[in-house]
Amino acid sequence: MKFIKYCPICNSESFETYMKSKDFSVSKEDFCIVRCLECNFHFTNPRPSNKELGKYYISDHYISHNNTRNNLFEKAYQLVRKISIRTKYNLVSKFFNRGRILDIGCGTGDFLQKCNEKKWSTKGIEPSEIARIQAIKNHNLEVDEDTDLKKLNGEFDIITMWHVLEHVTELNTTVAELKRLLSNEGKTIIAVPNLESFDSSYYKNYWAAYDLPIHLYHFSKTSIIKLFENHGFSLIKMKGMKFDSFYVSMLSEEHRTGNKNFFKSLIIGSISNLFGIFTKRGFSSTIYVFEKKK
Ligand SMILES: [Zn+2]
Repeated sequence: MKFIKYCPICNSESFETYMKSKDFSVSKEDFCIVRCLECNFHFTNPRPSNKELGKYYISDHYISHNNTRNNLFEKAYQLVRKISIRTKYNLVSKFFNRGRILDIGCGTGDFLQKCNEKKWSTKGIEPSEIARIQAIKNHNLEVDEDTDLKKLNGEFDIITMWHVLEHVTELNTTVAELKRLLSNEGKTIIAVPNLESFDSSYYKNYWAAYDLPIHLYHFSKTSIIKLFENHGFSLIKMKGMKFDSFYVSMLSEEHRTGNKNFFKSLIIGSISNLFGIFTKRGFSSTIYVFEKKK
């Protein structure tokens, strides 16, 4: 285990325990989330060392990395995934018709494949071997294994991290590297769970998007904006992810009761989306678009 002594966003040394919960997917071990008393950032502390982290990723539940369709839930998931890819691409195409795109944590490469179809020049990074091989084999994509952005060169018009930033061990280095790798007019698109969402406060320590211990950071709108501003970025757009609330509610129900409780998850997910639309809490997960400060 590794203790984080300084807040990754403001460098303060004063934290309080925010929540105790556990790894529901793999190890069933207990973990703790702390809150920085200075800037209100929430993060997993202590966390597994970089060496230990890998073993917490092995799970049957990690279905974003395979394409099996063995039940209704999987089928719904695959359909939603298709719609999500289209939505993601539509967002990218708002900024550029085509250009160079880097997807960090590209999984099986479905999103990059869509960009490829639209004549973008694409590059992916994916540490998981199973996912990476699928991306290369199925879609003929260029995908690197090495997650060390410092070794990467070139200028990208768009860099995406779809539910990836909460996993990276070197938070500040990663954001600094995003800036180095972006073209002057480039945009970086970051999707992360939202700690302040309705489903988060409803499920409390059972909330699946805490995903301990592999989610190292638990962002709010304020904390992610502060992080990127520290590195010379400004926020230009925010967008709620309306499907995530249902998916996260189902997994949270499963953590709490052992059952996905489909209809209840549908209700909680819908309420969460309504809070996202009509209040300042935001959605279950949010997409943030940042550019270099002008
Ligand atoms: Zn802080």
